[in-house]
Amino acid sequence: MQIKRLRLTGFKSFVEPTELRIEPGLTGVVGPNGCGKSNLLEAIRWVMGESSPKSMRGGGMEDVIFAGTSSRPPRDFAEVAIHCDTEGAVVAGLSDATEGHELEVIRRIERGAGSAYRANGRDVRAKDVALIFADAATGAHSPALVSQGKIANVIAAKPTERRAMLEEAAGIAGLHVRRKDAEQK
Ligand code: ATP
Ligand code: MG
Repeated sequence: MQIKRLRLTGFKSFVEPTELRIEPGLTGVVGPNGCGKSNLLEAIRWVMGESSPKSMRGGGMEDVIFAGTSSRPPRDFAEVAIHCDTEGAVVAGLSDATEGHELEVIRRIERGAGSAYRANGRDVRAKDVALIFADAATGAHSPALVSQGKIANVIAAKPTERRAMLEEAAGIAGLHVRRKDAEQK
């Protein structure tokens, strides 16, 4: 699975709609302190289903919505769209919603109304989105996304935590989600 495009609207410091094309190969994001580099990584994690405000450096989930500055009023929603090429990836649970190799997942949060997801134009649950990306060996908690200061966490991780990281990297994390789901039924 390859990320092709990312579109942010009202997400953290990206108040105006901003679209980024991500070319194959290594992508570097450079800029002065506070310009929004980490916010970009958080946008990717958020659209993939991140549900912990703490790992988004916020107190509550609505903190991802542009909070306003002295010259701009706050926004009442934030939206992130991620466009992926799914060639070679298993996109289970959503095969009917993937047209060809294109997959677009959109997450939107409105003040007071929580967040909602769409995958290729259809309403889906957070769980479905988590599965799509877990199967593709990526996702909100994947070691493919390394935040500032997280290298130290890997070194200090307990064996069980390290095992979870390896399972994510191996692309089998989705199986655990399904097992949990099956056990609840
Ligand atoms: P560094 O080089 O220091 O790591 P960075 O490029 O990673 O910086 P970020 O941490 O991504 O920068 O961006 C921080 C900026 O985003 C700050 O200016 C902060 O005020 C702004 N920001 C974060 N959340 C919001 C929000 N909800 N509304 C408006 N601005 C926000
Ligand atoms: Mg940063």
